Parts: sequence; C-alpha cells; structure tokens
Amino acid sequence: MESFFSTPLSSLEDFITEHGFTKVHAQTIYTQIYKHGAKSFEEISGLPQKLYSLLEKKYCFDFLEIAKIQESVDDKTVKLLFKLSDGRTVETVCVPFQKKYTLCLSSQVGCAMKCSFCFTGTQGLTRSLEKKEIILQYIQAYAYIKEKFEGHQAAPNIVFMGQGEPLHNIDNVADAIEILKTTEGMGLGPRQITLSTAGYLPGIKRFSELGSVNFALSFHSPFNEERNELIPLNKAYPIADLIEELKSIKLMKRQFLTFEYLIIRDLNHTRKHVEEIGRLLKDMPVIFNLIPFNEFPGAPYKRPEMAAVEEFKAGLMELGFHAMIRTTKGDDILAACGQLTSQETLS
Ligand code: SF4
Repeated sequence: MESFFSTPLSSLEDFITEHGFTKVHAQTIYTQIYKHGAKSFEEISGLPQKLYSLLEKKYCFDFLEIAKIQESVDDKTVKLLFKLSDGRTVETVCVPFQKKYTLCLSSQVGCAMKCSFCFTGTQGLTRSLEKKEIILQYIQAYAYIKEKFEGHQAAPNIVFMGQGEPLHNIDNVADAIEILKTTEGMGLGPRQITLSTAGYLPGIKRFSELGSVNFALSFHSPFNEERNELIPLNKAYPIADLIEELKSIKLMKRQFLTFEYLIIRDLNHTRKHVEEIGRLLKDMPVIFNLIPFNEFPGAPYKRPEMAAVEEFKAGLMELGFHAMIRTTKGDDILAACGQLTSQETLS
C-alpha cells in the first residue's frame, strides 16, 4: 500500500481517472484531507461507493505517533516529539507569532554538519526523512495547534530549521513542499515557506527547484577561520563561494535573503565583523536575523549581553542592512534554535 501523504495530486488524479472516475474526485479528496483535516476516506462524504474500496486498497494513512508533547510555560511554544515507523524520533517546534504559528520542521534524523553550537550536530546523521514524514510533521502539528489554541486556525508558515540540513535532503524536501503548495490541498504560498541552510553549496545550486520559497543562510561570521569552527562545512564550501552563488538566486519583489547570525559572547560581534560584512555583502538584498546564543547542557559557548547584541545590530543598520533581534522562544523546553535533538527520552 502507498502512503496517501507521499502522493502528489497528479498521481492521485491518474489513479482515479484510470478507474473511470474524474479528476474532480481527486481534487475533492485532496481538499478534504489537507484543508479540512479528514483522517480517512470514510470521513469524506459524497464519493461514489466503488471509489471508496478502490482507494482503501491502494492508499494508507500512516500518521506518525506523537510520543511526547511539551508546552513552554512562558509563551505557548510547543515541541512535539514524533516517533517514526523505524522507532527513530524527530522534533517539530510550533512557535506562536501574533495570530499565527510558524512550524519549525525537521528534515533529517540527526545531522551530518556537526555545527559546534548545535545540539543536533552532536548526534551525527542517522538518516534523511521521507517526504511523507516531513508532510506529516506539518499536518499533525497544525491539527494539534488548531485544536488546542483557539484563534490559531490559519495555516501555519514553515521554516526548515529543525533537525537536519534540508538541502542535504533536497529531493524529499522539494517533493514535500510541492505537495504542501498544491492549491486544492494545503495551498501554502512560497512566501510562507523558509528554508535555512548551513551553506551546503550543492543544494544551494539547486535552490531554484524549490520554487521561490524564502532562503536563509546560517552565516554567523564573515571570517572563514571563525566560520570553520562554528560550521565545519565551511571548510568545503567557504563564504566567498556561497556568496557568489547566492547572487544568482532570483528573488521576488520585496523578497530578501535572510542571514541568520548567532551571537556568541566575546566571539563574533566586533566592529571588525561589521566592517567585513559590509565589504562582503555590499549591495546585496540581505536581512539579518540576530539570535543571541541559547545555551544547552554542555554548550561550548555563552549567551551574549543584550547591550552587545544591540550594538552589533546598530552597526549593521548603519551599513544599510535590515537587522532584527530574534527573541528566544521555547527556551524552557529546549525548543529554541540549535537546541533540538533526536535523543529526547520518551518518558
Ligand atoms: S545547525 Fe543545522 S546544519 Fe548545523 S548541525 Fe545543527 S541541524 Fe545541522
């Protein structure tokens, strides 16, 4: 049996029309499941009787097990631990912003990139997620939020900023995005989706395959020596090569490249850093997202003073860049940036 959540609308249409039914039936099914939250074919009324039995023989609804739910006492951030069919686990974080949530999806179990500031990076890569495992994180986290928090009915945005390097699993990520963008289904717009990379150049070269979604780079330092320490991947794909490639990304009107900048105490936020950033990124449409480092057990770095973060921000703005400081959410449940792990206990 095939998973319904691995099936693009075009394949469902082909299957249904081959059996003498119409594309409209396929579109109705997609709408009912993705937009209205039907969890089985039985919950969809009005289909021809013969079609139900055909569909039930062909497709299954293999939802993920939600093994653990943690809610931040501070700010309604929710962290869901999903257990996959092979017993592995991944985390999805739901971050509230005004009336909408943003879902921080994982793309891999663990990660091969070994960034020195990241909890996930300490684990190594176990495997990449299948497209259905990416889609189901979204569907099930959205369903949870809708039920739990009144007033949060709108389809959440997505950031691929959970566990894993999404461009290291670009085929499954691209397929999942395509399904979630399908108009008759979830109908997400490309601007609702942001993909964040540590700088995996082979994936950046294929970024246009993802169709105008927002791009974010974990930047963290303009100096190779420092960036090599923070993101070992930089040794293979140094900053200058990344920046050259980013210049070829086609942006829509009022769309920017986001540069995530983790600010670590006494490390990467001096005047010298500001000047080098100005030289490297001159005239590029970049927005800086400044993230004060979130400490985790055994972390090798310290959180900066807020005054130092403000000063760094002011330096970037003097150069003409947009810059904002991201407030840390979900800190109390280790749901903040760089704190996710697949080794969460299920108790
Ligand atoms: S920061 Fe991202 S790319 Fe780096 S180790 Fe963590 S999950 Fe992987």
